[in-house]
Amino acid sequence: MRVVVKVGTSTLAHSTGLLNIRHVENLCKVLSDIKNSGIELALVSSGAIGVGQGKLSLKERPSDLPTTQAAAAVGQCELMYTYDKMFGEYNHTVGQVLVTASDIEEETRRDNFINTMVRLMQLGALPIINENDTVATDEIVIGDNDTLGAVVAKAIGAELLIILSDVEGLYDKNPNRNPDAKLLHLVEEITQEHYDAAEGSVSKLGTGGMVTKLKAAEIAGANGCETIIANGNDPSILYDILEGKQVGTRFLAKKRNN
Ligand code: GLU
Repeated sequence: MRVVVKVGTSTLAHSTGLLNIRHVENLCKVLSDIKNSGIELALVSSGAIGVGQGKLSLKERPSDLPTTQAAAAVGQCELMYTYDKMFGEYNHTVGQVLVTASDIEEETRRDNFINTMVRLMQLGALPIINENDTVATDEIVIGDNDTLGAVVAKAIGAELLIILSDVEGLYDKNPNRNPDAKLLHLVEEITQEHYDAAEGSVSKLGTGGMVTKLKAAEIAGANGCETIIANGNDPSILYDILEGKQVGTRFLAKKRNN
């Protein structure tokens, strides 16, 4: 089984932008264990800009492009250093894969990307993917890692995309404004109603919100890959997901042709 796990900045970092060591440590431990069980994993990790912001002592997320890109350069380094160290404790090797939209859109580059990803997994290494934020500008940007997660899942033919976030999943209305909002456990087909319910939920540290997660679930679903959105505060939730327990919101996929 091939699974893509996407983890957002709000799970990886505190609101200060500094790493949430407990979350990252638990995540690395659980993912290592899941890998040991024979599941092929790829991790799409945000956090470069958020962690760079913390490390450069910037008071808030930068708004201009050069500072954003500088923060990403610093934060990506810190992230990979931490992943390398923590996965290393469980005897796992990580590989950094940075992509931009054009790497996925252009056929030869996409083939190279897929070949590298597959080879990394064959070699037992864990690919950790992020957008190459230091060179991606508005015109060529994928923009958010929910979409990147779906793009990666499609490229490597994953069966499951798990988006870990700071929310439980998709609600029938915006839970910030409606205390009686109910968590949807299963979405068979994404409709405009789901988008309306998702409107207005944005993350402070990262870029995505529920809308980008729904779009990601649509891309994944169209390619035969299920998506589960769940709260990543306790990464052991990944065990429940893989054991088929009801957690978060599960989006069914269209049937695969192969
Ligand atoms: N690539 C961005 C980063 O690493 C994250 C984008 C997102 O939050 O979706 O900071």
